[in-house]
Amino acid sequence: MNTLQLNQLKEALKTPQRVVIIPHKNPDGDAIGSCLGWMHFLKKFGHQVSVISPNEYPQFLQWIPGNESVCIYNHDQDQFNTIIKQASIIFTLDFNALNRIAKMGAVVEQSDALKVMIDHHREPEGYANISFSYPELGSTCEVVYHIIEALEHTDIISKEIATCLYVGILTDSGSFRFPSVTAKTHRIVATLIEKGADHVQINDNIKDTATLDRLQLIGKALNNIHYISELRTAYVTLSQEELNSFNYQKGDTEGLVNYGLSIQNCVFSVIMIENKKEGIIKMSFRSKGNFSVNEFARQHFDGGGHHNAAGGRSEFSLNKTCEHFLAVLNNYKEALQ
Ligand code: 5GP
Ligand code: MN
Repeated sequence: MNTLQLNQLKEALKTPQRVVIIPHKNPDGDAIGSCLGWMHFLKKFGHQVSVISPNEYPQFLQWIPGNESVCIYNHDQDQFNTIIKQASIIFTLDFNALNRIAKMGAVVEQSDALKVMIDHHREPEGYANISFSYPELGSTCEVVYHIIEALEHTDIISKEIATCLYVGILTDSGSFRFPSVTAKTHRIVATLIEKGADHVQINDNIKDTATLDRLQLIGKALNNIHYISELRTAYVTLSQEELNSFNYQKGDTEGLVNYGLSIQNCVFSVIMIENKKEGIIKMSFRSKGNFSVNEFARQHFDGGGHHNAAGGRSEFSLNKTCEHFLAVLNNYKEALQ
């Protein structure tokens, strides 16, 4: 961990601050886990902390300790604009480009607060005064742990903090199986369990809360999978109509993109999900090995993320998006061998 940044952070947190913590839009387990873990940590030092999410997030994340104190920006933009304007420090967690927080981006940009990025995505923008950007780490929760460790404060990690950080490490590592997982990851997790994280309960809360509708939607998606063996690529589409017929709730499609990669020899998996309300197709990309979905998403679908996991979007119809994807894919024959 860079000592200059750490010293700047220590200096900034010397006296009680008005802190705002912001996760990316459509926050996932790592975004909410890291924001709440960091919130509990800062509160122990007497800072006043607000966590403001750009929009809502799935039910299966709404039990994490401190969840009740998360504000949803969309619910009252004027009130939260005021809170952001009055902040002395703004922490942005689990993203590195202001377009990932939609309308809040402009408000953060204009704020006079000290801006601190804590993140693990590639190619960070330069909006922050202090950047803790660690793309080699598997989750923002791990970055938060490393910061707490470098500040020599692991002694104050409570059960709450441990639980929050465990959630993000679990969800962003595909349950400890992605290449980003290291021996250090497991050492951190061991410490979190010692500090009170209940791994059985956390896994139940995250993974075993499906409705019958959700399971049947997964069935539908699995039926929709196409596999192009010469390109080692799997792709799935889900139309708004299909989502509606299974009473789609936010979060129901989480993780679906991973199924494609379980096909033998598959190295690239894509899901295209129609969102009529936003007028976009939300895309998720996953890969194994050398093929960079971060670059693929950046170049063709206005997105980005990590080497093996990225997201993006398209403003064409679902059919057009799929056609465009297949056309582009043909240029990657060699890379996908
Ligand atoms: P997901 O497919 O689960 O939405 O996202 C996979 C990874 O890519 C996550 O780490 C997420 O933060 C990142 N990601 C998703 N959408 C975008 C996007 O539009 N732009 C960038 N830069 N990253 C994204
Ligand atoms: Mn993350």
